[in-house]
Amino acid sequence: MVSRVIPVDPFDLVIFGGTGDLARRKILPGLFRRFCAGQMPKGARVIGAARGDMDSAAYRDFVADAIAEFGGERSCEEGTLAGFLERMEFVTIDARGDKGWDELAKLVRSDVVRAYYFSVGPSLFADLAHRLNAHGLTDADSRIVVEKPFGRDLPSAQALNKDLAMHFDESQIYRIDHYLGKETVQNLMAVRFGNMLFEPLWNSQYVDHIQITVAETVGVGGRGEYYDKSGAMRDMVQNHLMQLLCLIAMEPPSKFDPDAVRDEKLKVIRALDEVQPHHIVRGQYEASDDEPGYREAVGDPRSRTESYIAMKVGISNWRWAGTPFYLRTGKMLKARSSEITVVFKELNHSIFGEQSDHRNVLSIRLQPNEGITLGVTIKEPGPGGMRLVDVPLDMSFADALGEDGADQTDAYERLIMDVIRGNQTLFMRGDEVEAAWAWTDPIINGWEGRGEVPKTYDAGSEGPVDAVQLLARDTRVWRKVAP
Ligand code: NAP
Repeated sequence: MVSRVIPVDPFDLVIFGGTGDLARRKILPGLFRRFCAGQMPKGARVIGAARGDMDSAAYRDFVADAIAEFGGERSCEEGTLAGFLERMEFVTIDARGDKGWDELAKLVRSDVVRAYYFSVGPSLFADLAHRLNAHGLTDADSRIVVEKPFGRDLPSAQALNKDLAMHFDESQIYRIDHYLGKETVQNLMAVRFGNMLFEPLWNSQYVDHIQITVAETVGVGGRGEYYDKSGAMRDMVQNHLMQLLCLIAMEPPSKFDPDAVRDEKLKVIRALDEVQPHHIVRGQYEASDDEPGYREAVGDPRSRTESYIAMKVGISNWRWAGTPFYLRTGKMLKARSSEITVVFKELNHSIFGEQSDHRNVLSIRLQPNEGITLGVTIKEPGPGGMRLVDVPLDMSFADALGEDGADQTDAYERLIMDVIRGNQTLFMRGDEVEAAWAWTDPIINGWEGRGEVPKTYDAGSEGPVDAVQLLARDTRVWRKVAP
């Protein structure tokens, strides 16, 4: 199968924070891969911007190093890197002062798509939005890309939305959640709405429960200070897991159009039940042989921030009332694995008598080995009567789609190209983000008010024992966290 590269219009992409970690590891290597794929047209440029004293030649060296380190294996024709680097410029600029803005205004063209990537700390978002406008760097067609975290609670998210709305229309604001750029996440929509098979069964009449797992093997590493102010709920659930939940639970939009999709996601968030405290398990990992425990890693022996969370969530609407969604995410777990599992109900009646304890399970693997597995019940081969056995109909995208399936365009490069194309489908709208915070705030405030201390769990385990109990109480079990 041959990858189709859909051309985009010429653009100037300004990366504020162009020398930062995210730019180095994700944005610049991702852009290079798009260049290799032939998707950066003549006249497309990337302008790094940060306070550091650097000229464009030095920035090209910086970009070349970033690509050497994080560019991945994908092959590019010889000489391509030089062509890519020619597209790079750099401006020394201060988001909080006047330095560099006139230079940027001279550099950025007004007759191409202008996109401004805010790859800086959130405290600079409002300054950037203000200065971009004050220096005449925008028009109705300009876009801004805003990184996470988008607020740390409802009031801060509302304030940020308000600040950005003073200078940009909602149609110009691209709030990035890289989970939405993952191939398999988009496949959720394709599987649900591109097949006759699943949608009729996709409701509480046929679905027993749904599990969403995002498990990481790494600890907080060097991000301890940031992470400890955030925790798994703010860092993962409020955005990534919430987005997955929305895509799994939403009603079919009337068409694959940005606002139609986001309207449906918003309705899911608004229909989420308040979560009971005993339906949540929070955890902190202990030290392993190689890594310090959570509290040591963040440098606070009394930290009450969770590095793990599991919760039972209900959705009060016609489709899902009575079907629980179990979410869990954590660090330092046994395996790196992100998966959504739809567990269907048992048969109403089995003609096979006692062998009726079989149910269909649909698993959608986001990483690693992206793909879909459908557990079906068949006859166990051989003579001796009718015995049933569950087998997987297993489809890895790499196997099914060959190079295209394996060649998973990184989420960032896909999303950046969507920005240039002006397609907001895979970006969070302001009201969605606020609704998500409105749901998470009372939960977090509850823990803080009660002074709750997270349970501990062993590094390399599947999380706290209490998380097992959360499902056991409902006579259910978690899927094994396995790569
Ligand atoms: P970082 O490594 O600390 O880089 C920050 C960048 O912003 C640097 O280029 C810095 O360069 C520039 N900067 C700082 N103050 C500035 C100012 N006043 N004016 C202009 N430029 C300024 O941060 P990061 O890890 O790249 O993260 C950037 C954003 O992405 C943050 O919002 C973060 O939450 C988000 N994010 C990061 C990751 C990740 O993996 N790193 C993942 C998800 C989201 P100078 O100091 O030279 O100005």
